[in-house]
Amino acid sequence: MSLKCTICKSSKTVFKRAYSGEILCEKCFSKTFIKRVVKTISRYNMLHFNDKIGVAVSGGKDSLTLLHVLYKIEKKFPHSQLLAITIDEGIKGYREESLKIAIEACKKLKIKHVISSFKEAYGASLDEMIKISQEKNVFISPCTLCGILRRHLLFHIAKNLDLDALATAHTLDDIVQTYFLNVLRGDVNIFIRKVSNEKPKLITPFRLTPEKEVAFYAYLKGYYLQSTLCKYAYSSARNFVRNFLNQYETNYPGALFTALHTFEKFEISEEKESKKERCIICGERSSRKICRVCEILSKLDLKPKI
Ligand code: SF4
Ligand code: ZN
Repeated sequence: MSLKCTICKSSKTVFKRAYSGEILCEKCFSKTFIKRVVKTISRYNMLHFNDKIGVAVSGGKDSLTLLHVLYKIEKKFPHSQLLAITIDEGIKGYREESLKIAIEACKKLKIKHVISSFKEAYGASLDEMIKISQEKNVFISPCTLCGILRRHLLFHIAKNLDLDALATAHTLDDIVQTYFLNVLRGDVNIFIRKVSNEKPKLITPFRLTPEKEVAFYAYLKGYYLQSTLCKYAYSSARNFVRNFLNQYETNYPGALFTALHTFEKFEISEEKESKKERCIICGERSSRKICRVCEILSKLDLKPKI
């Protein structure tokens, strides 16, 4: 890139933000990247100075970047605490590498690392659950199974550790994709809350950061990135939505931000949230009589151990 940096006028530019027209050098890209995360945390009131924060770290580029960025930001708040949580879903040929990456990153940053697995929590790994679902003719996509149970286990651990906040590395792209997926599935929870009020708060500090920028920041910082892809990724409905939104964003830069702001206008009210029923099996808040976790586990004949 030969044009000058929009901010410092250096001629060593490395990144163009199509939606804002900014052209940036490495230093200004990194600075504005961190600044945006700080702004996101403050705009959505995600954290307080003395919070005990858990970061969900899969070992993928997004979560690894989030861990490093929050570590950098929270260093300025000596009363806060940061720890990492990794869930081993049990996906042969995929999880081993990312788990190793997550362990090494936490060691390097000297961050406490809590690891749990589907096998420990539910009695079966994801690979085994998929086999059971095929034997029982229960149709449930691997990603749905994986996503619902991972979130459930993360919350369980976060509650046990008495965390104030649980941070996930969902980017602007992920969040807009989820809103669209909810529309397409007719999910009554389409109007998800920006920040949950229950303890632990579920927070997404990359909510206003496009995935491309997270990937570029990870590349600039030289984080060790995973080389294998999950074998179940092909089956995900999210792929279709992701491809469509990527193409749309390329043709109409800024569309993802517009979509996010539109969806956020319809955020579920606190009153409505508190009226949600509780699952008759596990007692967790749910818009159904039996929550998705209990439904899945009973269909697969699994007894949770947590
Ligand atoms: Fe889980 Fe699907 Fe991601 Fe694989 S691609 S880790 S199954 S959510
Ligand atoms: Zn339940």
